[in-house]
Amino acid sequence: MKYLKVKKDFPILNQKINGKPLIYLDSAATTQKPKVVIDEIVNYYSFSNSNVHRGVHALSERATDSFEEVRLGLCHHINAKHQHEIIFTKGTTDSVNLVAHGFRSILKPGDEIVVSELEHHSNLIPWQMLAQTSGAKLKFIPMTTNGELDLSTLGSLLNLNTKIVAFNHISNALGTINPVKKITSAAHSVGACVFVDGAQALPHMRVDVQNLDVDFYAGSAHKMYGPTGVGLLYGKSAWLEKIPPYQGGGEMIAEVSMEKSSYAGLPHKFEAGTPNIEGVIGWGTALNWLNDIGIENIKTHEDNLLNYALELLKEIPDVVFYGTAKERAAVISFGLKGTHPYDAGVLLDQMGIAVRTGHHCAQPIMTCLQIPGTIRISLAAYTIQDDIDKFIEALKKTILLLN
Ligand SMILES: *Cc1c(COP(=O)(O)O)cnc(C)c1O
Repeated sequence: MKYLKVKKDFPILNQKINGKPLIYLDSAATTQKPKVVIDEIVNYYSFSNSNVHRGVHALSERATDSFEEVRLGLCHHINAKHQHEIIFTKGTTDSVNLVAHGFRSILKPGDEIVVSELEHHSNLIPWQMLAQTSGAKLKFIPMTTNGELDLSTLGSLLNLNTKIVAFNHISNALGTINPVKKITSAAHSVGACVFVDGAQALPHMRVDVQNLDVDFYAGSAHKMYGPTGVGLLYGKSAWLEKIPPYQGGGEMIAEVSMEKSSYAGLPHKFEAGTPNIEGVIGWGTALNWLNDIGIENIKTHEDNLLNYALELLKEIPDVVFYGTAKERAAVISFGLKGTHPYDAGVLLDQMGIAVRTGHHCAQPIMTCLQIPGTIRISLAAYTIQDDIDKFIEALKKTILLLN
């Protein structure tokens, strides 16, 4: 099987934009949702809506069971050792903030945090804030011009003061797949804690957190065919026990008096307040949908399409590629000689093609490449060959119009 046939599962893709059939090539910003997920959310509010972990009544038990089933599903999906190592958050950004905030009470002046130059702002700013509040020093794994991390620098970057090493599994801006195991074992050799932003990896490849041996791993439901506003933080129990709660409130306590409270155990210690129940339940359905197709089949489909699109783009002389890493997934970032990415984005939109233009929430990468931004197409399970053909045709028209 070369290509999947799942586009029909996505009602939103069956429409016209500016009078042209919609070609959605912005899945790295957010994926569309299959009808089963949309239906499940309606179904939840129609038949099961109730608060979780609270009532003894039937609806509350039903909602709680469905909610906790998703935690178990995610635990299996990423091969976590324990269910309580899966914390529900608002998304990847929230997960990074939870951990960075937790380390405020652990880090001291003189400690060091290492982040890569290839990061989405959400895996950079929280560490900058942590450095400011704790007095720790921020250091960077540099990126090469082809968009890979320069691991030859690890030896001089890491030392016994290094407390945290944070980087992404797959870059949203360039599609580079980073060698997580290699960086993790180097970080562990100096006793540092490893945080991996997996927002772009979870939709595209098999992730096994025990095999990778990372300490923390974060993801967002909306990047993997689920709803917005919900995500996960995986953490090894020992680390989750060690860091203090992020927010106080209902659900996260064991015993409360007016002066002081004791905190609930994992995972509830980090889940203050009523969670995004509809989001979690919708995510569970998205995960089942994804697993029915198989993440390996999705990867093959996307790799084939990526190569197909690359071959066609290489034939267009005006195209300049950004990010040409050996290991890459589902993203092509490029520019057009002599034009601004934004202008191309506007023209493509008029032809029904949704691409992302700009810095993709990763300004340091653009600074490193000395460009204002790129045009990015990103693929998903529902992308078809005809989408690529229509995109290439529209891009050729765009080049004629801009010259
Ligand atoms: C989307 C994305 C994020 C941020 O995810 P949110 O869902 O917006 O919190 C972080 N890192 C990467 C690599 C991403 O693609």
